[in-house]
Amino acid sequence: MHLYIIILLLLLSACQPATSVLSGKVICLDAGHGGTAATDTYRVGPTGEREEWINLRVAKHLKELLKAEHALVMMTRTTDTAVSLSERAELAKAQGADVFLSIHHNATADSSVNFPIVYYHGNASENQASVRLGELVIRQLRAALFNDSVAMSLVSDHTIFPKSGTAVLRGTYGIPAIIGEATFFTNPTEEQKLKSEAYNRREAEAYRDALREFFAEPIPLVQEKKVRVPPFTVLQEAERMRPEALAWRENFERGEKQFEKQDWPTAYDYFTQSARSFPDSYLAREVHHYRALILEKMDSLEAAGIAQQRVNEYYVPVK
Ligand SMILES: [Zn+2]
Repeated sequence: MHLYIIILLLLLSACQPATSVLSGKVICLDAGHGGTAATDTYRVGPTGEREEWINLRVAKHLKELLKAEHALVMMTRTTDTAVSLSERAELAKAQGADVFLSIHHNATADSSVNFPIVYYHGNASENQASVRLGELVIRQLRAALFNDSVAMSLVSDHTIFPKSGTAVLRGTYGIPAIIGEATFFTNPTEEQKLKSEAYNRREAEAYRDALREFFAEPIPLVQEKKVRVPPFTVLQEAERMRPEALAWRENFERGEKQFEKQDWPTAYDYFTQSARSFPDSYLAREVHHYRALILEKMDSLEAAGIAQQRVNEYYVPVK
């Protein structure tokens, strides 16, 4: 008799819906850009698909997926309109967001390029919560959209805006926060895929799965920013669309050849050029590591230390 009761109880508990770890979590979704179709000409794919439209579609799918798990979702925009960067960050702070996700897609002059990049703010040693979130997101994005077959970059936003990082991540510092650039819409094949709602939804599912993993474990604290890595000047967003930015991979290979020949100054020059034209590429971590090694060989020990610190704080290896 007792056995029947136990079996009955087990059956009943199996029928209960499992409570999601996302239940009650406050999640701020930030669909990047918006309202600039008439004024900016570089946030557009080869056949006219615009980044701000893709970002919004993915954010809307993600909102539905998270609401199904009883998360409390807020969005910085729900239409193709301009919202200032400070307003976006303030909304997340004012509403006590547990996570801030800024959804973007990437562009570069080299149309063959397509891989995921995720940014955290500041220094890896101090912003462990965002680094952890970034690791989970980038792995899920790569699995869902690239079948695990590409390299990827998990980097500080200081790699692209050397002095102060990005406005939305700076403004939400303290909250686990990332900018996700899932794919490159400047790649013609990728642009076609990005037009499909089913593909947008697959991307949203990757974010949801990463959030499930993130909240399933204790979240590291975000520490006060104290480490100061001297800024490394790079080409800015629109400048990276210029033809000379195309040589980032070539310059890396040239640098490696000269490194083997122990021609330190020439190798250093090539690596520096590569790092300036594509500071968040999947090769950039290695590029900066080479720069640190060369500086050491040339007896510039202080500069070598700074270069190595840049590698440690700004470039996180992900497997
Ligand atoms: Zn963007």
